[in-house]
Amino acid sequence: MESRINDSKRKRVVVVGGSIAGLCCAHSLLRSEWLEVLVFERARSVTAAGAGLGVGPRACDALRSWGLGDALESSSLPLSMEENRALDSKRNDPVVIKDETYDHRAVHWSDLHRLIHDALPAGIVRWSHEVVSFAELREANGEPRVRVKVSKLGGAENESNVEEIDADFMVSADGSMSQTREKFIPNESRRYSGYCAWRGVLETSSEHAQEVAETVKKAYPDLGKCLYFDIAEGTHAGLYELLKKRLNWLWYINQPEPQLKGKSVTLKADEKAIKELHEQAQRTWPPELAKLMQSTASPFINAIFDREPLGQFVWGRVVLVGEAAHPTTPHGLRSTNMSIDDAFVLGNAIAKWGPDQIEVALDEYQGERVPAATREVLFSRHLGKLKQGLLIPGIDWLQAEQNLKEQLLQKNVHSFQPSEL
Ligand SMILES: Cc1cc2nc3c(=O)[nH]c(=O)nc-3n(C[C@H](O)[C@H](O)[C@H](O)COP(=O)(O)OP(=O)(O)OC[C@H]3O[C@@H](n4cnc5c(N)ncnc54)[C@H](O)[C@@H]3O)c2cc1C
Repeated sequence: MESRINDSKRKRVVVVGGSIAGLCCAHSLLRSEWLEVLVFERARSVTAAGAGLGVGPRACDALRSWGLGDALESSSLPLSMEENRALDSKRNDPVVIKDETYDHRAVHWSDLHRLIHDALPAGIVRWSHEVVSFAELREANGEPRVRVKVSKLGGAENESNVEEIDADFMVSADGSMSQTREKFIPNESRRYSGYCAWRGVLETSSEHAQEVAETVKKAYPDLGKCLYFDIAEGTHAGLYELLKKRLNWLWYINQPEPQLKGKSVTLKADEKAIKELHEQAQRTWPPELAKLMQSTASPFINAIFDREPLGQFVWGRVVLVGEAAHPTTPHGLRSTNMSIDDAFVLGNAIAKWGPDQIEVALDEYQGERVPAATREVLFSRHLGKLKQGLLIPGIDWLQAEQNLKEQLLQKNVHSFQPSEL
C-alpha cells in the first residue's frame, strides 16, 4: 500500500505487553496514521483466563471510538445498578444502600481481551515475544530513541532469537510487576491489602448448575443488571451475572500475606482449602450465595495488592500505562477501566500533537492521568478497608448513619478526595 505520509514524519512506538492496556493503546495509537505500532507480548496467545469485570461509561465510550461498540454490546450484560446488602440476623431487609444510576457493562476478562485483540490489524501483536531490556539514546542528529531488545520465546536459546528494535517512544503495559517501572523506581515494594479474594465463575452448562443459578436468582432478583455486594462482619462478597448465564462471584477474606511463587498474585486452591472455603461460606453467607460458591468448579485465589500512587508516568520517551502505572485493589472496579482510560488519553494526546511533539503529548498524558489514577487507587483502597471492617470494626451497616452508608457506593470514585483517608 502506498504511504500518504512523508517518510521523515514516520514514527514507531513499541508497546510492551499485549493484555488489556497494551492492546487498547494499540487501537488508540493507530489513530495516528504516521505511527507504526508494534506490540510485544510474552504469552503465546489470547487465553480463557480470568473472570468478570465491569466496564464503566468512559471506557465504553473509548472502546466504541475504536469501533468495538457492537462487539462489546454482544459480549457483555448491562450492570445498571449497584446494591450493597448487610446480613441482618433475621435476613428480612438486608439492603443498606443502592444506586440505580450505575452505568456499567459486565464482561468476562477473556471475552474483552479477545474482542480488543481480534479487531486489530494483522501483524501488530507479536505473541511469544518478550522485551528483555531497553535503553534510551540519541541519534547523531539529536533525535531521542528507545532501543528495545526483544527475545522470541520457544525457539532455541541462542542470539538469533534476540532482535533490537529502535522506536521513537515506548509504552510499557507490562502489568503490576512491571520491569520498566522497577528500572525507574528501584526498591519499591507493593502493599499487601491484608486480605485475599476467592473468585469463581459458575458455568451453567450442567442441570445442577442451572438449578443453583435459578435459586441464586430468586435471592438476588436483579442479577443480569445489578452489581451486588454482601457485607458481613470483617468480610464482603461481590456477585454479578455474565453473558451465557454465568454467575461471577468474589469473596474477600482477611488473612496474613500468603507465600507467592514468582510474580503472579493468583494462587491455585487445593482440595483442603476449597473444602474449608465451602464450610466457611455456609457459616458466613445466605444459603443461596454459599451454595453458589460450593457449586463453582475451580475457584481460585487472588492476593490483593496495590502500590503507592506515582507522581510521574513518563521518563523521557518511556511511558507507563495500565497496571504498570497504577496497580490497584479491585473494589472500585477500576483496574481495566483505568487501563482503557490511559490508552484513550495517550492516543488522543499523540494524535493531537503529531509526530514532532511527542514529548508534549506524553506530558499531556501524564498531566491528565496521574491525578485521576491517584484518586482511583486511593478510593479503591479506602473502599476495601471499609468493607473489610478494617476502618470501622464491628459496624452495623443496617443501622449506620446515611452519610456512612453512602460511602459504600462505587460512584463516589469521581468525588473522592485522597485527604479523606
Ligand atoms: C490472564 C489475566 C487474567 C485477568 N483476569 C482478570 C479478571 O478476571 N478480572 C479483572 O478485573 N482483571 C483481570 N485481570 C487484570 C486486568 O485485566 C488488568 O489488571 C488490567 O486490565 C490492566 O491490565 P494491564 O494490561 O495493565 O496489565 P496485565 O493485565 O497484568 O498485563 C500485562 C501483560 O504484559 C505482559 N508482559 C509483562 N512483561 C512483559 C515483557 N517483558 N515482554 C512482553 N510482555 C510482557 C504479560 O504477559 C501480560 O500479558 C487479568 C489479567 C491477566 C493477565
